[in-house]
Amino acid sequence: MNRIYLDNAATTPMDPEVIEVMTVAMKEKFGNPSSIHSYGRESRAMIEMARKNIAKMINCSPSEIIFTSGGTEADNMAIRCGMHDLGINHAITTKLEHHAVGHTLEMLEERGDIKLSYVNVDDQGHVDLNHLQELLANNERSFVSLMHANNEIGTKLDIKKVGDICKAHNAIFHSDTVQTMCHYPYDLQDINVDFVTCSAHKFHGPKGVGFLYVKADHKVCPLIHGGSQERNLRGGTENFIGILGLEKAMEVAHRDMEEHINHVQGLKTYMIEKLEAEMPGVRFNGDAKGDSLYTVLNVSFPKNDSGSMLLFNLDIHGIAASGGSACTSGSNQGSHVLRGINADMNRPSLRFSFSRFNKKEEIDFVVERLKDFFPIEVA
Ligand code: PLP
Repeated sequence: MNRIYLDNAATTPMDPEVIEVMTVAMKEKFGNPSSIHSYGRESRAMIEMARKNIAKMINCSPSEIIFTSGGTEADNMAIRCGMHDLGINHAITTKLEHHAVGHTLEMLEERGDIKLSYVNVDDQGHVDLNHLQELLANNERSFVSLMHANNEIGTKLDIKKVGDICKAHNAIFHSDTVQTMCHYPYDLQDINVDFVTCSAHKFHGPKGVGFLYVKADHKVCPLIHGGSQERNLRGGTENFIGILGLEKAMEVAHRDMEEHINHVQGLKTYMIEKLEAEMPGVRFNGDAKGDSLYTVLNVSFPKNDSGSMLLFNLDIHGIAASGGSACTSGSNQGSHVLRGINADMNRPSLRFSFSRFNKKEEIDFVVERLKDFFPIEVA
């Protein structure tokens, strides 16, 4: 059976060019980048070259990049070190953030380390910028953590506008850019942002590697203590091969970005149109037809007996998607994001997320299967 992978917001297949670079390096290079002999120096030089190239792609200084084990660690470091080391006790976020952000902030609040405020969002997940300004004006200096695009529903933030608002209120701005980095061009000199995060496996790179961008003005201490790696900001022998994979994945993403955006946005639009034409009972969670993340489409289906088994049934047909509401994910509470936008939790929801490796015919096949599961309600 040919399988269809539409869960690219969870992770992406690795690009052959990335695999090639990593395979060659794995065979030929093994020196510890901290060793002073030639083996170590070779690895060190390659890491620093990767840092330089990555910084160039997003227009920042190489010294502003700290390699991490991925998005979760980068978000944790931004929040925990950023707030503590910059002496900030008040955070502003939404209820729709990834758990790497949401749970970290909740933990700090529960411990009594910080005060936490939630900015309002509308039913599509857009942040209420007037409320954000009110919260900023009525509190001490704040740490604002708002994701650039939501991983479940794709709703995007006007990151530039939020950066300007934060700057006007002397606030620190962290954006979880895990779903957008390498999917959109970034010019970090053009956005007033203090911390952004990156995870290689979201754009055809390897798992377990990413980085945190920390604006040069900010002096933060490490989250992970140990050796003096990453200029004393992150202890532990660097994931050297992973970093080379991250660099290559970023290079490919930037080289082919326009083509990929057109292709992937085309798939999303095609699926929206096809679902609307052939399954009139469907709705979309988030701002699917607006300026939303082009890789993600969150679909809400009419409630029926197939709903609870939807993901399972798709999987039987070789289709990989991911769930959202209680009925599809098997969790008791369902998606915090769908709850946060007041979605109808009785309707089963699925997230389809696309990559440049997907094809239109795959969408056709998926929609046909979905029609089998919802024959009565939407006929
Ligand atoms: N932030 C967002 C928005 C994500 O989608 C993810 C991954 O699902 C993460 C953070 C965590 O990244 P990682 O898997 O690299 O730890």
